[in-house]
Amino acid sequence: MEKVNNKKEALAKRENKKNLIREGFITVIAGPCAIESREQLESIAKLVKESGLTYLRGGAYKPRTSPYSFQGLERKGLEYIKEISDKYGLKTVTEVTDADTVDIVAKYVDVLQIGTRNMSNFALLKKVGKVANQMNRSVILKRGWASTIKEWLLAVEYITSQGSTEVVLCERGIRTFEPYTRFTLDLSAVPVIKKLSKLPIIIDPSHAVGQSDLVIPMSRAAIAVGSDGLIVEIHTNPEKALCDGQQALNARQTKEMLSQVEFIANFFGKKIL
Ligand code: PEP
Ligand code: MN
Repeated sequence: MEKVNNKKEALAKRENKKNLIREGFITVIAGPCAIESREQLESIAKLVKESGLTYLRGGAYKPRTSPYSFQGLERKGLEYIKEISDKYGLKTVTEVTDADTVDIVAKYVDVLQIGTRNMSNFALLKKVGKVANQMNRSVILKRGWASTIKEWLLAVEYITSQGSTEVVLCERGIRTFEPYTRFTLDLSAVPVIKKLSKLPIIIDPSHAVGQSDLVIPMSRAAIAVGSDGLIVEIHTNPEKALCDGQQALNARQTKEMLSQVEFIANFFGKKIL
C-alpha cells in the first residue's frame, strides 16, 4: 500500500511540475551575472517581466576565476531573488557551487544551475540530484569548458542516479586556441546531443563569446541549430556591473535579441517562454 501511495505521490509531483523546457516553446532565461543589490535585481526583473519572459537568472554564489573578484551576496542574494521573483511572478535560476549550500539554495529558487567549473564535481552533482528530486527542482548542467560530450553525458548520470529529475544541458563554450572570443561556442553540440540523448539542451551565448555585440548573432544561431532555450546575461546598467558587464545585453539589446529569436522560433512553430 505504501508503495502505491509513493507511486501516486511521485506521479502527482510530476504532473504538478511545470518543466523548464516545454514542448512548443523556446525557454529564454535572462538576468544579471550576479545579484548585486535589491535595486539592481529589481530593475532587471522588471525588464525580464516586461519582455514577457518567465525565468530570471542571477548568481548569489559566484565562482570567479580570480579570488579577488566580487564573490556574490550569498545568502542575502538568495533572499533578494526570492523576494523579487515573488513580487514579479517570475521563476528563478541560480548557481550552486558547493554541496553544503545545495539545500539552502533549493529553498529559495526553482532551478539549480551547475556551472562549467563544477561539471566534474561529482559529490556536488549527487547532492544536487538528491535535493532536486526531493524538492522537485529542475537542474541545468553546464558543460565543462574542457569536457567532451561523452564526459558531459556521464556527469548527468551522477545527478539522475539520485532519483528522477529534469536535467537540462547547457552548452556555454569550450576552450580552444582562439583567444578573440572568451570561449568557442560549440553549436554542433546541439545536434549531437539530440542524436545521442533525449535530454533538452540550451545555449549560453554570453559566457561563450564574452562580448555583448556578439551575443545576438549567436542567440539567433542557437535557435536555428535546434536549441531548446537560451540563458543570457542582461543588465540595466552594464557599465556599472560588478561581474561580466562586458557581455551583458542592455535593455535595448535585450529587446532586439528577443525579437530576432522570436522570429526564428516562430519559423519552427515555437513560442518564447
Ligand atoms: C554563470 O552562468 O553565471 C556562470 C558562471 O557560467 P559558467 O559556469 O558557464 O562560467
Ligand atoms: Mn557571468
